[in-house]
Amino acid sequence: MMIAEEDLRRVKEATDIVAVVNEKVGLKRSSSRWIGLCPFHAEKTPSFSVNPALGVYHCFGCGASGDAISFLRETQGLTFVEAVERLAPRAGVELSAEDPEQAKARQRRAALLEAMERAVAWYHDRLLTAPDASTARSYLRSRGYDGEVVRRYRLGWAPAGWDQLCQALRLPDDLLQGSGLGYVDDKRRRSDVFRERVLFPILDHQGAAIGIGGRQLPGGRDPKYKNSPETPLYRKKEVLYGLSWAKENVMRHATAVLCEGYTDVIAFHQAGVASAVATCGTAATEDHVRRLKAFGATRLVLGYDADVAGQGAAERFHAWERSHDLDIRVVALPPGADPADVGRRDPAALQRAVEEAVPFLSFRLQRVWAVADLGTNEGRARAAQQAVTMIDQHPNPLVRDPYLMEVAARTRLDPSRLRDLTREGRPERATGALYQGPIRRRTIELPRPERAALWFAVNHPETVTSHLEEELFSHDVAIGAYRALTSSATFAEAHAGADEDVATLLASLANEPDTGRSRAASLGRAFDELGNPLAQDDEATAAALSERALDVIAELVRARATEIFTAARLLGQRPNLSATEGAAHTVAITFLQANLPLLSDRHRRAAALDQLVPWLVTHQRE
Ligand SMILES: [Zn+2]
Repeated sequence: MMIAEEDLRRVKEATDIVAVVNEKVGLKRSSSRWIGLCPFHAEKTPSFSVNPALGVYHCFGCGASGDAISFLRETQGLTFVEAVERLAPRAGVELSAEDPEQAKARQRRAALLEAMERAVAWYHDRLLTAPDASTARSYLRSRGYDGEVVRRYRLGWAPAGWDQLCQALRLPDDLLQGSGLGYVDDKRRRSDVFRERVLFPILDHQGAAIGIGGRQLPGGRDPKYKNSPETPLYRKKEVLYGLSWAKENVMRHATAVLCEGYTDVIAFHQAGVASAVATCGTAATEDHVRRLKAFGATRLVLGYDADVAGQGAAERFHAWERSHDLDIRVVALPPGADPADVGRRDPAALQRAVEEAVPFLSFRLQRVWAVADLGTNEGRARAAQQAVTMIDQHPNPLVRDPYLMEVAARTRLDPSRLRDLTREGRPERATGALYQGPIRRRTIELPRPERAALWFAVNHPETVTSHLEEELFSHDVAIGAYRALTSSATFAEAHAGADEDVATLLASLANEPDTGRSRAASLGRAFDELGNPLAQDDEATAAALSERALDVIAELVRARATEIFTAARLLGQRPNLSATEGAAHTVAITFLQANLPLLSDRHRRAAALDQLVPWLVTHQRE
């Protein structure tokens, strides 16, 4: 649905950002801000700050920033609309009616989700209590799944009869079929999709059941694994099993472990690797990668033997490394072992395998060397050819080259001969731009007085309104921020309408406790004395604040004046300076020389600024 602009404004105004953030991050009050451990990067000392008055957060560690809506989007993986819908009721705002078509789609989705939830609960109860589930229970126990695991992952049991779930839930036909739980044949008989299987509910990232994976018992009916059919809720190209449990960890460590099945995910989670997810009955797709990227993953660790997936998969992985700026690694498990076996025997070994995961290309090359016959010329040539073919699938020449050198060294072949076998040797396939390093959130470095002036404009606008002008700034982002502030009625409006750099700057300024001291020092001090936090900027009287604001503006004026002096001096050295130009410069310099010293005199400073600022504005515009 669309959110009406007026609704959005009211939701933003009435939302208490501290309450929203506090559900995720323990915040403590520090002066007029609230501070806590950043949910977007791993840290031990807090650098995450929330300004309740202005409605924005900023992390001084990783640069994450935004408002209540972006906080929900980034920590819960919600869309913009979902985030606003989540905030509206608690802000006491009733969103305007959506159009009937959308309302119908939403109701249908809610009904399907409810059907899934009832089915999962019913199957789970069967596994825990039904006499006919005793074989399943002992099978699960033999695989190391005790009651706690069964409850935690809400495992279920589908009994053998052909319509037991249908009988129990009595869903209308369209919900039965639409949810993929059952079907109706041409004689109008209703049947269950899952029979005689141990069930693994597949949840979306918010923990709602959207599908089911079923595993046969040993000797049970084929196939071994059977998943829900595609439904409006369940799209296997996008679904990641385990994401609701893993997302927080993925976000915190920017790493996701990708496995092949539910039992692998459970094995990783039980071994303490809480960022494991699995595709459900399909190879990893770009949609899966996008989901994980949306939760901040920059490293993807493959929790299975990726080499057996074949060449096509390898090219895809390398392409994702480039297009999604991902670092793809592979866990090296003992040959033939699956994660569930390793995890059951030695959880620490599974953890270690993730920590020691090697880059995908390096993993594949190790396989080549493991079986290569380097004792003969033919064997070395064959191994080199295989290795170079693999290396050539990597899109980044800066990565390819050191690997090629390694091949040359191992096979005692001439590196330039090997390079001829790669795309460099075939210019028609060359791939243009060089690999660009990982994208980091940018921190914007501003000249100190410009940052300080903007800090006052954000936090104490009344102190700067009479003297601050756009022409006193030199940095593009500072100018953008000043324009956003002066052309908007409220800070929220300025922040929401600004481009990314300006919005980040505004949020960080709103969360800086006070200007004139370093960010780290002021945050650190606030925390040293937690319980009795410093209230530096609150305690300062209005008069003292205004004085400091004038200091900052005076500093800006001096900076601009220095530029004018320098320009004038350079101009004065020009031999062909005309008499009029010369006179104009003499006037300018005389004016500045007369007025600048007054800035150091507390009593005459305001009057001097009244002269200097309009003069500089006119001068800059000329
Ligand atoms: Zn952070």
